[in-house]
Amino acid sequence: MSNPEENFKRIETKAVHSGEPLPRILGSVTMPVFQSATFESFGEGSYHDIRYIRLSNTPNHYTLHRKLAALEAAEDALVAASGMAAISTTLLSVLSKGDHMLAQDCLYGGTHDFVTKDLPKYGISCDFIDANDPSTWEEKLTPQTKVMYVETMTNPLLEVADLRAVVEFAKSHNLLSIIDNTFASPINFRPPEQGFDLSLHSATKYLNGHSDIVAGAVIGRADLVRKVKHLLDHLGGSLDPHACFLLERGIKTLALRVRYQNQSTLAIAKYLAMHEGVSKVNYPRLETHPQHMRARELFEGCSGVLSFELEGGKEAAELFLQNITIPIVAPSLGGVESLVTIPATTSHSGLSAQERQKMGISDGLIRLSVGIEATEDLIEDFERAFDVVKQKLPMKVV
Ligand code: PLP
Repeated sequence: MSNPEENFKRIETKAVHSGEPLPRILGSVTMPVFQSATFESFGEGSYHDIRYIRLSNTPNHYTLHRKLAALEAAEDALVAASGMAAISTTLLSVLSKGDHMLAQDCLYGGTHDFVTKDLPKYGISCDFIDANDPSTWEEKLTPQTKVMYVETMTNPLLEVADLRAVVEFAKSHNLLSIIDNTFASPINFRPPEQGFDLSLHSATKYLNGHSDIVAGAVIGRADLVRKVKHLLDHLGGSLDPHACFLLERGIKTLALRVRYQNQSTLAIAKYLAMHEGVSKVNYPRLETHPQHMRARELFEGCSGVLSFELEGGKEAAELFLQNITIPIVAPSLGGVESLVTIPATTSHSGLSAQERQKMGISDGLIRLSVGIEATEDLIEDFERAFDVVKQKLPMKVV
């Protein structure tokens, strides 16, 4: 009989079947949860081979690792207790005292803080680059530079860096290229296929998709994943088997969810772009987006996050949020339910108003993570909220 894994060619099939044990465990159609901290030993060779949850080697971990590697057509994968566990453990395992890294200038807040506030304590420094302007990268290189770190789409402005140039630059200067692929998900972009050494995820978001766990993933070159696992074994940021089970269950519907979110978000972005009460919409699939052509070439779709500004600024944005009834006002993204936030008062509130303005994040900018509700219901909900804004702040809406 042929190896069934060879027949799992397309991503929809891989999401459902790749990595699952064969023969099925006692015939179970779904992967059972192995909620056992430790396993009987059979004379394992090294500490890292002892079967123990912290060492990320229960049957639930193995299944997930194989599935995630298959999704991004990568050599290997590892799950971690959160996206930040995946990011921090990866950077600490590939960088040493005295090393230097280059990072995109608009990183997820937790990563930005880790790189600027924690890594210097270990003798690791970072310079930020404009990831859209490759001509400025070389001047930031030092003989100690080891890593180039970017994100697939930035939060909350959805900028798309010159990702092909990042891979080329890293290769030609002997740097490791690492990308946070959370926003795209493997459905829209598979970094290892494009030459990235490692792809990281907050699996809390699209991969799990149901806003009920936090988890992280490291996907890519086998030698690097092994290195990250070695340090994760010591730092202890492993994922619990029950969370592995939930993540694996979430991944099975990844293609259906993300493809729907691609379509629904584009429809909502177009609706908002035409609305008299909206002054700006940031979504790479819109032709007005500055990196629209690049996003089209690189990504199958642009996922479910967009941001927009209202004509009436902060006051109008707050009123709008108070009057929508379907999206929930909450941080995070990538789940089945739509979530909405004002970054200036949540994710980016730690920055000064001037810093935010420099980054293009106005006080009235709204970030929306579109879920899998009916697109029409969301648009009708927004229309009702816009009517209230127009009634209460007539001078603010053109
Ligand atoms: N990377 C990105 C792009 C994120 O948006 C987040 C969380 O919002 C993280 C990493 C951190 O992930 P976690 O919250 O799972 O630790």
